[in-house]
Amino acid sequence: MTVTAIVGANWGDEGKGKMTDALAAKSSFVVRYQGGSNAGHTIINDYGKFALHMLPSGVFYPHITNVIGPGTALDIDVLLREIEELRGRGVSEPRIRVSERAQVVLPIHRLFDELEEQRLGAKGFGSTKRGIAPFYADKYAKLGVQVADLYDEDRLLQRLEQSLAAKNIVLTELYCHDPVQARDLLPELLNQAEKLRPYVSDTSRLLHDAYRDGESILLEGQLGALRDPDHGIYPYSTSSSTLAGYAPVGAGLPPYAITRIIAVVKAYSSCVGAGPFVSELGGDAEDQLRRLGGDAGEYGATTGRPRRVGWFDAVATRYGCMLQGATEVALTNLDVLGYLDEIPVCTSYELDGQIIKHTFPITSKLQEANSVLEYLPGWRSDISQIRSFEELPEAAQRYVLFVEELIGVKIGSVSVGPNREQLIVR
Ligand code: GDP
Repeated sequence: MTVTAIVGANWGDEGKGKMTDALAAKSSFVVRYQGGSNAGHTIINDYGKFALHMLPSGVFYPHITNVIGPGTALDIDVLLREIEELRGRGVSEPRIRVSERAQVVLPIHRLFDELEEQRLGAKGFGSTKRGIAPFYADKYAKLGVQVADLYDEDRLLQRLEQSLAAKNIVLTELYCHDPVQARDLLPELLNQAEKLRPYVSDTSRLLHDAYRDGESILLEGQLGALRDPDHGIYPYSTSSSTLAGYAPVGAGLPPYAITRIIAVVKAYSSCVGAGPFVSELGGDAEDQLRRLGGDAGEYGATTGRPRRVGWFDAVATRYGCMLQGATEVALTNLDVLGYLDEIPVCTSYELDGQIIKHTFPITSKLQEANSVLEYLPGWRSDISQIRSFEELPEAAQRYVLFVEELIGVKIGSVSVGPNREQLIVR
């Protein structure tokens, strides 16, 4: 019996989807517990390549129950489209359960996200414009709509009217936009609610029962530790906690349920959106790493935006693993580094004349930090077909052991390609 959290130790896009898909085979439940459609998990398997935004990564296994927990930002439109896409591409009908307490991303949230990012212009935070920040603002201001509200028209109307009262003043006065009427939102929401109905249930009860019965449960995080609103690079963070510590809350499980925390870490760094990124590259070196990274270059799974890339950042990753409470690390994208003669690694920061290794500076200071690099020999070969650690070229083994030493957490698996089977378990 295990409850495992799979979470990111960096800025997101570490390859959590691939790792979840690979580990899901032995699980009964895969659970999304935070965030919404603002990040995509890339999965490549026998059905083809998928970028899942709303669906948990267990949907390719018919035996798995995929849960969208109360802590998520449920975009019904995206969810229904993704289910349709799976059907269209021949995937067996997945088992999906959506918490009746999950809250719904409304068109008004997407509109506010868009208008605010426009207003901020160059001072924006790199929002994916999926409505996530306005959604969570409403949730904690107690102006949100829960899934269960969709099945009580009077209550839904009243909730929308309450939420729109203040928003319409901001819409007209600040953004010079037409006001939005609650009644106009109803038909589409009620229509979506009917399509969602077969999936809605009390998922907290479901998961507690599964936990009691000793079922294996995977809790799938979105983004990474450095995007956590409390501990990350605020305000260039997301709006819900990306940490394993939040997973039992957002999923609906006891806090002591998690026994295994796999922090997914990339063998180099990548970051989508704005914010300080100490080991960021520039020029040709950046173009080359971006072109060769991931499964088809480092471009955002949600936005298609080119990802910023840099060398492995030990300071940020050590901090990310600490925040996650990692019991082990999955190191992904190791194959990507096979083109280099020598591989730079950011082992510490230089800040105000000091060398920093074990603390992670606050955002304003981070902007002034420089990376201190050490160089490891490269292996200059294709390792994507290798399936055991001992068969890796010596330089690749050394790189893994060096990273392990730097972050102080056991690297339990090494991913050498985007496909499910391209995995080395140590
Ligand atoms: P997630 O949000 O953490 O699931 O990560 P994304 O799917 O956004 O980004 C990870 C990228 O790396 C995707 O393009 C994956 O297909 C790709 N990927 C994952 N693991 C590996 C790996 O070991 N090697 C290579 N080359 N690509 C990988």
